Amino acid sequence: MSNLGDFRKDFDQLNSGDYVYFDNAATSQRPRQVLEAVSNFYKTANANPLRGLYDWSMAATDAYENSRAVVADFIGASRAEEIIFTRNTTESLNLVAYSYGLENVHEGDEIVISVMEHHSNMLPWQMVAKKNNAKLVFMEPLEDGTITEQEYKSKITDKTKIVAIGHVSNVMGVTNPVKEIAEYAHSKGAIVVVDGAQSAPHMKVDVKDLGADFFALSGHKMLAPMGIGALYGRYELLEQMQPFLRGGEMIEYVTREDATYAEIPHKFEAGTVNAGDAVGLAEAIKYIQNVGFDAIEAQEQKLTTMLMEGLAKLPYIKVYGSKDPKKHCGIVTFTMDGVHPHDMASILNDDHICVRAGHHCAQPLMQFIGAGSTARASVYFYNTESEVERFLDKLSKVREVMG
Ligand code: PLP
Repeated sequence: MSNLGDFRKDFDQLNSGDYVYFDNAATSQRPRQVLEAVSNFYKTANANPLRGLYDWSMAATDAYENSRAVVADFIGASRAEEIIFTRNTTESLNLVAYSYGLENVHEGDEIVISVMEHHSNMLPWQMVAKKNNAKLVFMEPLEDGTITEQEYKSKITDKTKIVAIGHVSNVMGVTNPVKEIAEYAHSKGAIVVVDGAQSAPHMKVDVKDLGADFFALSGHKMLAPMGIGALYGRYELLEQMQPFLRGGEMIEYVTREDATYAEIPHKFEAGTVNAGDAVGLAEAIKYIQNVGFDAIEAQEQKLTTMLMEGLAKLPYIKVYGSKDPKKHCGIVTFTMDGVHPHDMASILNDDHICVRAGHHCAQPLMQFIGAGSTARASVYFYNTESEVERFLDKLSKVREVMG
């Protein structure tokens, strides 16, 4: 196994003081190598990519397109053209909703999502359903976060045109049975959109094996800069779809009245692209591959087990989702009797411990589990056992502080 302590040295902000960063599900930290790769792009290949016929522009284009190939390989796409660079998961999912959903979902059709979805994988489908008089149908999990076979088979029917599902819930940490759901959805003629924001940083993803027709991810949750994300789309689907945004870079020929569009992927990448951060994303992927998913998962499971065992000793804490730490993907969401999560987070912050408090952009899930707000501690491979000990120690004192 890789020596994770050595990797931690690459994260300047983590080593810049005495902070414990447990908000990795919101955004990760970035290693020096990623920051240097971005900086190096601007120092050596800075020109508008895809436009110029001179050396610098061609270097920028090469760097950008090589990054696309790295992302394709990372998630098992068949070809680089199946990867569209976007700003983030939210933009990727909106692209699918606008360019595929609005065209292919009609009156009386159904779109199936789960009640656990992040708003990014819910609001775009609310929009499509409302505009096209379709119905939005919700799969509901058991208390431990499981969507059962019976549940998805009762919600996905011949009327279903799209199933949009999070691979890993950003609140429960549960990994949904996406492969089984996709197989069933396909047997009903529906296509499957997977929100991979919380899975791509933590586990090996193979979009073909999963049966995803679309798969969205955010770079900033997996060591890359903010402002770069990706959408995988099955080649045949992307080819048929209309562009999402229109303007420069995405055309073949333009007259006063009309335009024809470039081939995919460029048809979906209007305007000057974020080549510097795409290079950063490729470097982040190489970094993750160097650490290795086995080591990442082992460390996350070790820390999650410690977290959950420690929280179980505090009778006034309720942890949401499965009792099995292996089923949390590094995410532990909890409440404390008599203390608002915002107060908890503020008191922890007094001791330089960073956790998230609120609805986690999943208000319908909060309504479903009967919690207005929760606290969430989420770890990544660079976190340590001593950080978990410090967190648990401080948390046990929060109630005393609150009186
Ligand atoms: N989906 C899930 C499951 C998430 O956890 C998040 C972010 O927290 C998103 C989507 C949205 O990601 P972004 O804000 O990068 O678009």
